[in-house]
Amino acid sequence: MKKAKHLAALPLGGVGIIGTNMMVYDCDGDLIVVDAGVSFPNENTPGVDVIVPDTRFLRDHAKNIKAVFITHGHEDHIGAVGYLWDDFAGAPVYGSPIANLIAQSKLQELGIKPQKGQLRVAKAGEPVKLGKFSVEYVPVSHSVLESFALAITTPYGTIVHTGDYKFDDHAPFGHVTDEKRLAEIGQQGVLAVFGDSTNAMKETEAGSEGPVQAHIADIIANTKGRIFFASFASHMGRVLPVAEMAAKSGRKVAFLGRTVNKMLGYAKELGYYPDSLKNMVIEAEEVSGLPADKVFVFASGTQGEGGSSLTRLSQGMDVRGIKLKSDDTVVLSSRMIPGNERAILNVINGLSTLDVNVISELTDRKIHVSGHGGRPEMARLYSLLKPTYVVPVHGEPMQMKAHAELARELGYQPLRLQPTRKLVLAEGVADEGEELPLEEAGRAKGKAFKPFHTQHTYPHGFNYIDGLNILENDPLILRERRKIAYEGLVSAALAINTRSGEWVSDIALTTRGLLDEVIQADIMKGAVAKVMQVLETIFPDGRIDDRTRAAEAIQQALRKHFKHERGKLPTTVVQFVEV
Ligand SMILES: [Zn+2]
Ligand SMILES: [Zn+2]
Repeated sequence: MKKAKHLAALPLGGVGIIGTNMMVYDCDGDLIVVDAGVSFPNENTPGVDVIVPDTRFLRDHAKNIKAVFITHGHEDHIGAVGYLWDDFAGAPVYGSPIANLIAQSKLQELGIKPQKGQLRVAKAGEPVKLGKFSVEYVPVSHSVLESFALAITTPYGTIVHTGDYKFDDHAPFGHVTDEKRLAEIGQQGVLAVFGDSTNAMKETEAGSEGPVQAHIADIIANTKGRIFFASFASHMGRVLPVAEMAAKSGRKVAFLGRTVNKMLGYAKELGYYPDSLKNMVIEAEEVSGLPADKVFVFASGTQGEGGSSLTRLSQGMDVRGIKLKSDDTVVLSSRMIPGNERAILNVINGLSTLDVNVISELTDRKIHVSGHGGRPEMARLYSLLKPTYVVPVHGEPMQMKAHAELARELGYQPLRLQPTRKLVLAEGVADEGEELPLEEAGRAKGKAFKPFHTQHTYPHGFNYIDGLNILENDPLILRERRKIAYEGLVSAALAINTRSGEWVSDIALTTRGLLDEVIQADIMKGAVAKVMQVLETIFPDGRIDDRTRAAEAIQQALRKHFKHERGKLPTTVVQFVEV
C-alpha cells in the first residue's frame, strides 16, 4: 500500500521572537522536538513569571514524539522543560551534562519526578538514532558552557539546527566551534540550516572572549578599591576565569545570587571549577572585614532585575552585610538586552548617585562580547555547510529578515517560516515501510523540490506561567490586569432587603489605584449620588427587580462619573448584598 511521506518543520516558538524556542521536526510522522525555552514578561504581561510555547500540537501527537533535544542551558532554550514536561509524553530528553543538571533542578523545583532514564546525556560525535532521525551534537562556541548545534539526518536529507553559536578562535574556556565536523557534514550534503538570527543585523564578528578577559585582568590589576563584577550568571566561561584572575591577584571572591551559586555547583560537579579558586571563595558576610584591595564580589543582575543583588546594592541597600561605598568599582560585563534598557540605566544611575566608579558597555566597548555570531560568522558557517536552504530562526522579524537577505546575498535560498503552518521540505508517496525515493522528492539530479507551507494550520501561541496558574491562550486575565493597572478599580456594594428587594442604604464604594478617597471625598460622594439618581430613575419604587440591569446601570454611571472627574475608565465590580 502506498503512503504519503514527508519531512517538515513546525515552529512552536522562537520565530519572530527571541525566546520560547521550540522546533518540531516531522519525518514520516515521527516527531522530534528541539529546545523548550521560555521568554520573560514585559509591560503587557504584568505579574507573569515566564512565557512558554503553546504545546497543544505535542499533546495532539503525543504518541509520535521520539525525543526532545536541548541545544544548551540558556533559559530561552531549556527554561520550559519543567512546565512542559508532561507534554513530552515520556519521550527521552537529551542534553549536555550541564543541560542535564539544569533540567533535573527545574523538575525538582516543580516536584516532578522523571521516569528512570528519561533525562539522557548527549555526547558530541555519538549520534542518537530514534525512528527516522539520527541526531548528532556538534560543539559550538557560545556564552554558556556546552553549547551544541544539531545535525539531524533523515532519509530525505540532513537539517542542521544551529542553536546559538559563534566562532571564537580564542576562547579561553569552553567549546570552540567544531569546524572540521561541520565541514564533513557539509560535504555529505545539507538540505537546510535552521540558523540563529540574533546578530544578523551586525556587520562585524561577535568578537572573542579572550581579549575581553585580558581587558578585565587589566581592570583588576589597576583597581585599588573593592571590585564588584556583574555578568550573566550562566556564563561560567567568563565567571570562572575572571574569578580565578581575581583570586590570583590576592582578592577573596564572594558570589551573590542564587543562579550563580547554582551554576557554580554544576561547574563543580562536572569538573569545570578551577582548583585555584577553592581556598579563595568566601561568604558574603565575610567581605566587610577585609581590606578593600582584597575584595572581589560577583553580583547578579546585569539586566536591572528587581530584587537582584546588583539592583539592591545600587539602591544603597545592605546585601548580606555588604553596602556600596564611593571608592568601590562596579564592572558590568554584559550588554543591555533590548527592552531592559530603562531598568539597567536605573541601576547605573543608582550607582552614580552612590558615587561608585562604574565600568559598563556605555563607556567601555571591550567589556563584553556577544555569544551570537554576526554576519561574517553566519557566512563562515554557511561556507562550511553549503546548505540548499537557509531557514532563519531565533530572532525578531527584523533579524530574521536580515538573515534571509544575507543568505540570498551569499547564494543560498532562504525560506521564511510561517508559524501555524508546516514547512514541508520533502514530500511524496512510497510503499508502506519504505522510504520516499529521493527522485520522487524531486531533489535528485539537481532538480530542486520546492518547499512549501501547508494550507492547514496547527495551534501556535504562548502560555503564561502566572504564580501557580497557567494562562493558556487566554488574554482575558492579562487584559483585566493591565486595565486595572492603568485605570484603577471601583468596587460597589448595594444592600438589598431580601424579602422586598428594596435597597436599604446608599451604594457603598471602595476604590483602588484611582484616587485618594479622603482628600477627594467629594468625588466619591458625587459618585454615590450619581448612582442613586440612576437607580431611582430606573427603579422608581426603590425595588431592584432586575439585578443584571441594575448592575449594568451602576457600572455605566460609575464609569461615566470617573471618566468625567478623573479621566479614567476604571474596572467596576458590582455586588448586591442581601440583608
Ligand atoms: Zn544561548
Ligand atoms: Zn538563545
